[in-house]
Parts: sequence; structure tokens; C-alpha cells
Amino acid sequence: MTSRPNSRWLTLMLLLAVLVPSVCLIWFMNQAVRNERLAVRQELMEVYRGNLALAQGRLEAWRAQIVHDAETNNFPAPALFAAAVRAGIADSVICFDPAGKVVYPAPEHAANASPAALALQAQARGLRQAGKKRETIDLIVDSMTQGRLAGAADEQGRLILPSLELMALELTNAPILLKRLQRELNDYDNAMPAPQRRFLMRRLTELFPKQADFFTLAAEDLAARYLETGPEPPREPRLKEASLPGLWQLSSEHGRVLLLFQTETLQARLRQAASRQTLPAAVSLTFIMPGRESGNYLLAMPAGEGFPGWQLGLTLKDGDIFNAAANEQIASYVWVGVLTMAVVVILALLGAGLIRRQAAVAQLRNDLLANVTHELKTPLSSMRLLVDTLLQSNPLHEETARQYLQLIAAENVRLSRLIDNFLTFSRIERKKHAFNFTAVSAGAIAESAAAAVRERFAAAGCQFALQAAPHLPPVVADADAMVTVLLNLLDNAWKYSGDDKQIILSASAENGNVVFAVKDNGIGLSPRETKRIFKRFYQVDQRLARTGCGCGLGLSIVQYIVSAHHGAIRVESEPARGSTFIVTLPAAPEASL
Ligand code: ADP
Repeated sequence: MTSRPNSRWLTLMLLLAVLVPSVCLIWFMNQAVRNERLAVRQELMEVYRGNLALAQGRLEAWRAQIVHDAETNNFPAPALFAAAVRAGIADSVICFDPAGKVVYPAPEHAANASPAALALQAQARGLRQAGKKRETIDLIVDSMTQGRLAGAADEQGRLILPSLELMALELTNAPILLKRLQRELNDYDNAMPAPQRRFLMRRLTELFPKQADFFTLAAEDLAARYLETGPEPPREPRLKEASLPGLWQLSSEHGRVLLLFQTETLQARLRQAASRQTLPAAVSLTFIMPGRESGNYLLAMPAGEGFPGWQLGLTLKDGDIFNAAANEQIASYVWVGVLTMAVVVILALLGAGLIRRQAAVAQLRNDLLANVTHELKTPLSSMRLLVDTLLQSNPLHEETARQYLQLIAAENVRLSRLIDNFLTFSRIERKKHAFNFTAVSAGAIAESAAAAVRERFAAAGCQFALQAAPHLPPVVADADAMVTVLLNLLDNAWKYSGDDKQIILSASAENGNVVFAVKDNGIGLSPRETKRIFKRFYQVDQRLARTGCGCGLGLSIVQYIVSAHHGAIRVESEPARGSTFIVTLPAAPEASL
């Protein structure tokens, strides 16, 4: 009766025993995973910080190198300009004298003009205006070949000869003239002022777009535009925003050269200098200009002293890098967690089994006690009643006395069987039951069992027959135990049959086995019941126990004994049509006889 609430408590406790550690474990694992992610993140951040510091060092080295190199050679200013631009050091260059005055590309300035050259220029212009093309060309070619005009300039310092050459080129389109003029324009050793050079370059590019291409023209233009904004004398070897939008300036060590960079060129140079190979593949480096938002970067740090306001920013290419790095460790945590949980579950199940077994043993003990008391009480009280009746009858009638004594004897037999069963059961439960196996005749076992019941089964309303086949093979068995088996089955056949009982005990040989069968024409069993009747204390009709007709132990004892003999027991039954209990034992091998 108390088993149901107990098992509910047991289930609840087991559930708690599994759930509480599992929940704790999951919580710990969760914490461990989070910590692992944080640790990996921190480790990677340290690495990235180191990478950024390295990039910063490289940038600084690049800057120091170019501010030093920009003025190491002693070229005159135009040659210095051309060399720096052609080497691709910067988009443009402005050269200063020690006093901070622009030397190249300087605006035009007053110069000592050559009167002869000016006169020649005026003559050529006049001839051209008069439409005398031939004469104009002759005059110019003459003066070119005689070399009289070399180095001659007008009042603004502009060289006369290149201007005349352009005039002749415009008139003739002669390739030789184009080549000569191009050579002069690309030659930065001559004294041509920057505005004239720029004008001539642009004019030639207009006239001969396919042939004329001046590498330094863009740098000249940029420098001129910059100078138009009126820059303050640059003296800082640090990267600063120039007075033109999208332009950056960096002065050489002693302020002799000012390097000008457009933003794209500068970014490219910085990238080159910082050399992307030093960075892990998962991140990319960005050079953040002064005043730009640096919030979306994984890490950002100042680009260094030479780059005021600039920042170096790292962005993640793959947002999952931290997880990926942490996953390996996390996987091991998960495995440990899963294993621990599996162990907890297994232990809980084992514990549950153990507890259930203990509970079953306790239950069994209770049931046994209750049954023993009950079973013993019924025959004892009926015997006492019979004895009392006998004692009170005066005079003692012999016939009645014999009848009563027979009843008392029957009760006695029942009582003995009950006690035998209890003792056997108890020994079985304590695993103390010892069998005495010997080769015995199967017929003798059947005969002993039949003899034990014959007298009782000879009563009115009962037909009993023993059908033992001749020449039965012997079996290796504990004869007493096997007789107990058959007696239990015969007893049941008697108990569970009506008033007109027909009971047959048979013994036969079959396929190397000996088969004992107890057949009755009693109440029979449903298929569901036949599966359960071998369980301890199982009774199809619980009321039987109360009427003193058994306690559900007989068949479990029978099954135990049969199994110990390496045999099998089965039942063929149908409700209201009787049952046949069939015990099969292996016949004894020849050698054991
Ligand atoms: P019990 O002491 O109750 O007879 P058993 O273990 O011998 O205990 O039998 C268990 C139950 O199996 C019985 O209570 C009965 O319901 C059923 N049973 C056993 N033998 C027969 C039979 N020959 N015919 C019908 N029912 C039977």
C-alpha cells in the first residue's frame, strides 16, 4: 500500500539527483565557455596590439627614411624636384632655400633680359603676324643652329629659345622640333622657370596629345596650385594636412624639401610601409585620418609622433574569429560535461535500481511476514476447531472422529507443504538453496509425486491418473526438489478446478528431454495471466489468499527449481477449459549413469 508514494518520492529524488548536478554542470560549462571566449579574445587582442605597434614602428621608419632621403643629394632645386617626383616619393615636391623661400617650382621673377634675344623674338613674331611663314621658320632655325640664344631670357626670366621653338613647331609640326622641345622640357638642369615649363608642357600636350606626355606635369600643376594658396614656410618633418583639400604635406629633415601627397597616394604609401604581411590574415589595417571616427574598429592606436592626429585601426575580416579560436577548447569542455552528465545519469540509474531492489526486498519481507502469519493461521484454526469439536463430543463417535481426524491430517499436509514452500522460498531468496543432483529415474519422480497426492485425490468428485511412459530416460536432478515441483503443480490443479476434477500427471520422453505435464480441467488462465503467474506473490484472484488457498509462491518456486535443473516450464491454458503445466528437463547423458 505504501509503495506508491514511496516510489513517487524516489522518482522525485532521483530526478533531483540528476537535474541539480546537470543544471550546475551546464551553468559551469556556460561560464567556462564564456571565460574561454574572453581569454581567447584577450590573447588575440594582445597579439593584435603587438601587430599594431609593429606597424606603427614601420610607419615611423618609413617617414624617417623619406624625410632624410628627400634632401640628401645636393641637386639644384629643379633637378631635386624632378628626381623626387620621378622616383615616386611623393605626388609633388616643393624646394626651399635655407631662408625658407620657394626655389622650385617658384613663380616667375624679374631677370636680366637679353636685348638681342628679345629683338629676335619680336622679329619672329612680326614675320609670323605678316603671314611670312617660311621666313619666320628660317629665322628661328638659323638662330637655333647658331646657338646664339642659349640661356637668353626675357624680363620675367622666361627662356627665349623654347618659346621660338614652339612658334616654329606650331608652324611646321616637325617631329624633330617636337622631340627637341620635349627634351628641353624634361631637362630640369636648365634654367627654365616653372611657369614657362608648365605652359609649354600643357601647350605641347594640347597640340600633340598622342606624342607629348610629361611625367612631371601633374606634379608641377599640384605644386603651383598649392603655392597659390600661400603656404606658410614648412619646417615640420611630420605629416600634416596641407592647405589644399585632400592634400598632405611632410617636410624634409631640415625643411629644404616639402613633400606633397594626395590622400590616395598617401594611403597607398602608408600601406606599403606598414607591410600587410606582418598582420594575421583575419584582420585588416586602416589608416584613420585626423578627425575621422575610430569607433568601429576592433583596436585603434595613434599612428605615431610623425603622424599627428592619425590613427591605426584594426578591423576584423571574419567576425567569428574569436569563436573559431575558442571553439576547440569549448569542444573539450562540452565533452567533459557530456561525459560527466552521462556518469551522473548512469549512477542515478544504478542507484535507482539499487534502491528499488532494496525497496522490493523490504516489501517482500513485509509480504512474506503477512502471508506466513495468514497462511499458518488458517489451517491451524481449522485444526483447532476440529479438535475442539472432537473433544466436546461425548460420547466420541468413531466414524465422526475418523472423519475429523482425516480432515485434520489434510490440514496438516497443507500446513507442511506451506511451511516447505516458505522454507524453500526463504532459502532461494537468501541464495542458500543447495540441490543434491543425482541421476534419478523420471518415472520414480512422477510416481513419488502421485503417491503423495493419491489418497487426497481419491476423494469424491476427483479423477486422478498417472500416465508415465515406459522406459523413461533418467534425469540428473534433485529428486526431492522435482517432487516438490510436481506436488505444487498437482496442488494447483486441485485448487483451481471445480467440483468435478480431472487431473492427469504424465511423464514422457521427447527429443532427448523428459517432459512432465500436469493437466487439469479447472478454471484456466487468460494469455495475460499466464505471463504473470510465475511472479512471486502473484495471484490471479487476490481473494484466494484470504481464503487460505495459497499465497502466490508455489509457481515462482517451481520455476526456480526447474531453471536450476536447466529445464523449462510453460503453461497451455484457456479460461474455463483447464490448464496444462509442462516441465521439460534434459535427459541425463549416458556418461552420468
Ligand atoms: P498460489 O499459492 O496462489 O496457488 P501459485 O504460485 O502456485 O500460488 O500460483 C499463482 C497463481 O496462478 C494462482 O493464484 C492462480 O491464480 C494461478 N494458477 C496456478 N495454477 C493454476 C491452475 N492449474 N489453473 C488456474 N490457475 C492457476
